[in-house]
Amino acid sequence: MSELRRLYEAQLLEAKLDSLNLALKELPVYEEYRKLQAEAAEVNKAAGLLAGRLEEQWKRLKYLELDMQKAEEESKTAQVLLYSGKVSNPKELAQLEAKAGSLQRERSKAEDSVLQAMEAAEETEKSLSACREKQQSLADRLHRLKTQAVLELSGLKEQIREHQQEREKLLAGISDKLLSQYRELQQRFRDTALVPVDGEVCGGCRVSLSTNLKNRLCNPAALQTCEYCGRILVP
Ligand SMILES: [Zn+2]
Repeated sequence: MSELRRLYEAQLLEAKLDSLNLALKELPVYEEYRKLQAEAAEVNKAAGLLAGRLEEQWKRLKYLELDMQKAEEESKTAQVLLYSGKVSNPKELAQLEAKAGSLQRERSKAEDSVLQAMEAAEETEKSLSACREKQQSLADRLHRLKTQAVLELSGLKEQIREHQQEREKLLAGISDKLLSQYRELQQRFRDTALVPVDGEVCGGCRVSLSTNLKNRLCNPAALQTCEYCGRILVP
């Protein structure tokens, strides 16, 4: 392979390396990972709130159960007294009956409250358990994504290493003079410092080559540049 052709191949590799390095920084898996992380943070927050709510609901339920027990005992005592025959005065009996009735109503109110509190706590438990499942599934997905990202990264890095080695090999035989001219042109033209001649036009600026230049291109030993844009021409 001629010196110029080798340099041209190296330039192609450099363009490829640029895009690989860019891909390394902007892997789509990163964005996906960030989104999932944000989602997981939201779910964790919701789980924390639900756990806090459930704790409060359990506490309240305990109080309500104690109230209910107390109401049950008081109601029972009143009923026992009412039917014991110990109170025979009709006025006292009527009063006792009224009290027993009111205690009975309080008792069933307390029982209703306990039931309602139980149902509310069960609802919260269900929501919390759904939240925990979601947390687990997100954690699994994040783990899988991380594994995927590591694989993609190492694949890209391997490709970059191979391209770099290949480029070094190609550049090893290039004279310093050509190399410095190439680097200089690279500042202006990036990855089109060297361009192939495309038919009879410069592959960079698309301007037709003069007859004189076309003749000179027949001599592979001499380096030719486009008369219009200054890029090095690869015959
Ligand atoms: Zn040109």
